[in-house]
Amino acid sequence: MKKCPYCAEEIQEEAIKCKYCQSSLVKQAENKTTALPKGLQLFLIGLAVALVGYYFSSISGGGILDMLGGGLAMAGDLVVVYACYLGVKYLWQKVTNKK
Ligand SMILES: [Zn+2]
Repeated sequence: MKKCPYCAEEIQEEAIKCKYCQSSLVKQAENKTTALPKGLQLFLIGLAVALVGYYFSSISGGGILDMLGGGLAMAGDLVVVYACYLGVKYLWQKVTNKK
């Protein structure tokens, strides 16, 4: 249960509209769901950067390109790990919010 921000009556957690004052609560629900697509975007970007990095270091047999590719792959990996952390955090928030 949560409180309606408009009339302070107790309403269901999943409610998108208050049954007492008919106020729309969709905006709050949207804020919650935008966390995952953001993390997902970050995950895909990180994956793409890492793949490009791995590709560069695999086609160049050493030298500056290899170093550049290795650095790029490492940076991409970090972004992917961070995105995973965001995803886990989001899921954890969802689990702990539900009663
Ligand atoms: Zn209300």
